[in-house]
Amino acid sequence: MLLIDQVKSTIRDVEGYPKPGIVFKDITPVLADPVLMKRIIQFFVRNYRDKKIDAVAAIEARGFILGSVLAHELACSFIPLRKAGKLPFNTRKQRYDLEYGTAELEIHTDAIKPGASVLVHDDLLATGGTACAAGHLIKSFGGELAGFSFLINLGFLPGARNLQEQFGLAPDFLIKY
Ligand code: AMP
Repeated sequence: MLLIDQVKSTIRDVEGYPKPGIVFKDITPVLADPVLMKRIIQFFVRNYRDKKIDAVAAIEARGFILGSVLAHELACSFIPLRKAGKLPFNTRKQRYDLEYGTAELEIHTDAIKPGASVLVHDDLLATGGTACAAGHLIKSFGGELAGFSFLINLGFLPGARNLQEQFGLAPDFLIKY
């Protein structure tokens, strides 16, 4: 079976989580399948192995899973981007909009070396608020954005458009709904 079809048929839709009207894309059945995971990792590694990437900056929490494997496979640094109050050292914050209200993403102030080529990774792109906050944090320290990578792109939401408008980059992804 094609990788895309196999991953799509393994992702579990959970309706009404975390609130009514949302269909949550639950990737835990994918994580539970080591053969599928290996193929997914190969897909991402092939995308980036010929590019000069100094660090993968991954978004808490599900972005950490594939993000850290990707950093390992590309033999580059791993940078955690976390929700407010979770990182122990000096941080810089970026506020972003959620459907209702706002949230903050944080990075350690010594995480980005100026001029470093940084790939942002998360499990899923929806409105793009989280990924755009990540991009602005990285650029604020003089980092260069190598790209934005996701397992899933919810193409009916404006995430890709927002990344294009704010950074001139199209997202890389395996699965599009
Ligand atoms: P956004 O900032 O709107 O692009 O939302 C992306 C972030 O929210 C990612 O970290 C996702 O893990 C999470 N997220 C948003 N919508 C969903 C969904 N339908 N299923 C699973 N995760 C989601």
